[in-house]
Amino acid sequence: MINLRLILGDQLSPSISSLEDAKPDDVILMCEVIEEATYVPHHPKKIAFLFSAMRHFAKDLKAKGYKVRYTTLDDPKNSGSFEEEVRKAIEITDAKKIIVTEPGEYRLLKIMESWKNSLGIPVDIRSDTRFLCTIKEFKIWSESRRQLRMEYFYRDMRIRHSILMEKNGKPTGGQWNFDKENRKSPPQGLSSPKRISHVKDQITKDVLDLVKERFSHHFGNIEPFHYAINREQALLELNHFITKLLPFFGDYQDCMVAGEPYLYHSLISSYLNAGLLIPLEICNKAEEAYRLGKAPLNAVEGFIRQILGWREYVRGIYWLHMPEYGKMNYLKAKEPIPGFYWTANTKMTCVAEAIRHTRDHAYSHHIQRLMVTGNFALLAGLDVQQVQEWYLAVYSDAYEWVEMPNTLGMALFGDGGIMGSKPYAASGKYIHKMSNFCDKCPYNPQETTTNNACPFNALYWDFMARNQEKLKQNHRLPYVYAIWKKFGLEKQKNILAKAREIITFMREGKL
Ligand SMILES: Cc1cc2nc3c(=O)[nH]c(=O)nc-3n(C[C@H](O)[C@H](O)[C@H](O)COP(=O)(O)OP(=O)(O)OC[C@H]3O[C@@H](n4cnc5c(N)ncnc54)[C@H](O)[C@@H]3O)c2cc1C
Ligand code: SF4
Repeated sequence: MINLRLILGDQLSPSISSLEDAKPDDVILMCEVIEEATYVPHHPKKIAFLFSAMRHFAKDLKAKGYKVRYTTLDDPKNSGSFEEEVRKAIEITDAKKIIVTEPGEYRLLKIMESWKNSLGIPVDIRSDTRFLCTIKEFKIWSESRRQLRMEYFYRDMRIRHSILMEKNGKPTGGQWNFDKENRKSPPQGLSSPKRISHVKDQITKDVLDLVKERFSHHFGNIEPFHYAINREQALLELNHFITKLLPFFGDYQDCMVAGEPYLYHSLISSYLNAGLLIPLEICNKAEEAYRLGKAPLNAVEGFIRQILGWREYVRGIYWLHMPEYGKMNYLKAKEPIPGFYWTANTKMTCVAEAIRHTRDHAYSHHIQRLMVTGNFALLAGLDVQQVQEWYLAVYSDAYEWVEMPNTLGMALFGDGGIMGSKPYAASGKYIHKMSNFCDKCPYNPQETTTNNACPFNALYWDFMARNQEKLKQNHRLPYVYAIWKKFGLEKQKNILAKAREIITFMREGKL
């Protein structure tokens, strides 16, 4: 009996559960479909990375003796629809069962679950064992909690996977979290160390030509293209990070510097999310660097927390709350996303920098995503759905399971506090402290209502004032509302008027 084994673009791991018991007669199906490439206008670098990585993965599978059926985007017989490609493959191969690993998107899971009826054969949807916490385990964990705070989930994960734990059951270094050591402002002259780049083979060159021809109207520059496109190259990236950059990761984790998109970040999210790297191997390598005395604990713990903690946690939140999660808009944010998110054409240096990094690299590091573009969207009340679609389209690591909780939940407080205990709202003073963006900005981070005042300042207070009913009970915000009250009516009125002016300028493309 022939099984049809489906491999999605983010399932490029030889250890993927859908391949576990593959038999010589089974057929592996992989396809590049226009439907998936365009349901949001994905960044050309993201499409090129994924198509090239998929083609390399298929090539490796064939070399190992698997029967692979691969449909390229430019194949004249490509139907353009995922379901249609599966239907065709069943007819041609006479497969009696579909085997697939659960996808990273609720919409796709529902489609797969419908195949039993629509295609008339059994569908075996398997757990994605690459994650360190299954969807079921997260649900069980959540049932015993009143609030789902990442910190407690992370501690449980440390214990469960014996990562950075001592024999006496205590966390390595005597504490769970070294975050306080990881919030340094950028020192003068901080720049990104040199990154490795990879030679492009014919497969990648063909994909780049295809993407240039078909997707050049999407936001983002395809060249220069330096992405790793197979596991071997992704491992080089990981090793480069662990040996050269990890020691400084903690120190500069929250820093932002003009013209320096990467600083000491790992740049592994695209490889990890597509399956070229596996979370456990990354955590183990980072811990090994600490045990060998090659990286300090604050850096290693901070890095491991992102992968073992945040990454697994956001996935758990996504699957726990979908499909309702995708429709949440707690603060009723409805302002259309301004054009500068697609052009970088704004006088606000911080926003222009973050969007330029995004346009050029399909990448912007976490603090820029959260505290610049995300923070602006939160303060200005930008439409949650539009902002979320923007994040899904423009980053090469974006898949709904990870992008949605980060955007809708963490950045926009759209879930009303499921992800975070308070909104990540900040004025221009935070950006000034953590970056050098303000040095070259026509706006002044110390001013709130003057002509050249930093827009983040009045928008911050406007955000707090207009959402007071919903936020005043928040136990982490009383001091904010105490300051607001102290301002007095006249000052409050001026700030709110300034915020209205900023929104008008934004709508008119003058910000
Ligand atoms: C609004 C917003 C949207 C985001 N969208 C995505 C997304 O679509 N895909 C994505 O992978 N990450 C997303 N993130 C999380 C984070 O910004 C990226 O994982 C990180 O910037 C990737 O760069 P890096 O590999 O250099 O990460 P590093 O800073 O080096 O961190 C190491 C790894 O930790 C993991 N990680 C860190 N923070 C998070 C987090 N909050 N959630 C999940 N994993 C995390 C990533 O796998 C990352 O590769 C988003 C964050 C925000 C605030
Ligand atoms: S002054 Fe305000 S707008 Fe300009 S870079 Fe600083 S925070 Fe951004």
